[in-house]
Amino acid sequence: MRKPVIAGNWKLFKKSAEAQDLVTNILPLVKETAGVEIIIAPVFTVLGKVKDAIDGTSVMLAAQNCFWEEEGAYTGEVSPGMLRDAGCSHVIIGHSERRQYFGETDATVNKKITAALSTGLTVIFCIGETLAERESGKTFDILNSQIRDGLAGIRREDISKMIIAYEPVWAIGTGKTASNEQAQEAHSHIRAFLAGLYDHDAAETVRILYGGSVKPENIKGLMAQRDIDGALVGGASLNADSFAAIANYN
Ligand code: PEP
Repeated sequence: MRKPVIAGNWKLFKKSAEAQDLVTNILPLVKETAGVEIIIAPVFTVLGKVKDAIDGTSVMLAAQNCFWEEEGAYTGEVSPGMLRDAGCSHVIIGHSERRQYFGETDATVNKKITAALSTGLTVIFCIGETLAERESGKTFDILNSQIRDGLAGIRREDISKMIIAYEPVWAIGTGKTASNEQAQEAHSHIRAFLAGLYDHDAAETVRILYGGSVKPENIKGLMAQRDIDGALVGGASLNADSFAAIANYN
């Protein structure tokens, strides 16, 4: 049984007071006992604030990115060990916005994943095709190469500690959600590809989240699919009622 995960990616939103308000509004609304892991990924500057607010609850903290070196002359970067120190249990790596706007490649994503895993962070590894790639029939090839290159050198015992987020780029922040069938088809492909890279049991234990305009209205249908184990939620995670309704989908 794979435990469902609902993760909120706050992207570049929420200064201290707003972050405090949002997290304190979310906490009483989410059913912590419903068997769903809940993760919040705010910006670096409010990690401490959100950590203090979730202390004593089962809600977990994620960062939205990290660097691959632990320390050194790398102005502006934040290392996996520093994220652990700030109270993070998880880190999102390879989000399509980072690939699109900050030049992240499968190779840099791989370095980040390797470094993050070595500090004990659970990685939420994002993959997904663009609209042009989908329309030219390349979806599975793109997913395969993102997984193969992103996970190069990652051992079997580490893959089961990771979470994969399938986020079709054309569905992120656009209001267009993949249909339940499109999402399930991609998730099932990802699981089969992982089984080929590792083995069947490893692939069956990995949680694969869907991301792309998830809302209270579409979460149930997505979660009813065999290979969809949760959601990475962007826009809708910025509203306490919407995020809680998604987290309480069952
Ligand atoms: C995301 O930021 O990972 C995301 C899926 O965004 P949205 O839910 O807004 O599409």
